[in-house]
Amino acid sequence: MLQENFKQVEANIRKACERAGRDPKEVTLIAVSKTKPVEMLREAYDFGTRVFGENKVQEIVEKYDALPKDIHWHMIGHLQRNKVKYIIDKVDLIHSVDSVRLAETIEKEAGKHGITARILLEVNVAEEESKFGLKVDEVEKTIEEIAKFPHIKVCGLMTIAPFVDDPEENRLYFRRLRNLSVDIGAKKVDNVTMSILSMGMTNDYEVAVEEGATMVRVGTGLFGARNYAQC
Ligand SMILES: *Cc1c(COP(=O)(O)O)cnc(C)c1O
Repeated sequence: MLQENFKQVEANIRKACERAGRDPKEVTLIAVSKTKPVEMLREAYDFGTRVFGENKVQEIVEKYDALPKDIHWHMIGHLQRNKVKYIIDKVDLIHSVDSVRLAETIEKEAGKHGITARILLEVNVAEEESKFGLKVDEVEKTIEEIAKFPHIKVCGLMTIAPFVDDPEENRLYFRRLRNLSVDIGAKKVDNVTMSILSMGMTNDYEVAVEEGATMVRVGTGLFGARNYAQC
């Protein structure tokens, strides 16, 4: 059942790549396992899943301890500065950096461990009041400041598109994020690449892939609906 969902989503990604003339190898499916029990992640691990996304520090720490160490954990949720220290050496990529202050803390904690933290900048492309993320016109300046940190590598951009009934409504935002990443990439800032575009969730990942996503973050479409009442 769980594996069927994965196969279906993977097939949909392949088809979206075909439509866009892209190589499916360019797209990483991040299995967003937030709120789901360790047993369910273990089942997905057993049929080959190695990339999981979580949005809470506490949950990453618990699942990291409980599951095999060859899993790649992605922090996709809003990150508070005082919690960076708990996950800095556990996650592969932080998708949700939206201020120089947060980057400063990541720099400090990564330095303590002698590692280079890989990050994406979260962009609120649709400028929704309720969402975290930089405004489009703040991104370049923020990147230039963060690029100075020796223990951080900026790898690309991330966005959470609006919740809409028709995913076509988000195509514009995905295209805007991609254009922004191409513009910034062309500037060739030291210590910055624009190789990752993290965009697309259960409702709109196919459109996101058509528009150039290299990482899609799918939760409900793989693991089923989340029941927040129980956590
Ligand atoms: C929960 C979450 C997702 C996955 O959402 P679904 O609609 O369940 O696919 C993706 N990205 C972020 C940042 C999330 O918090």
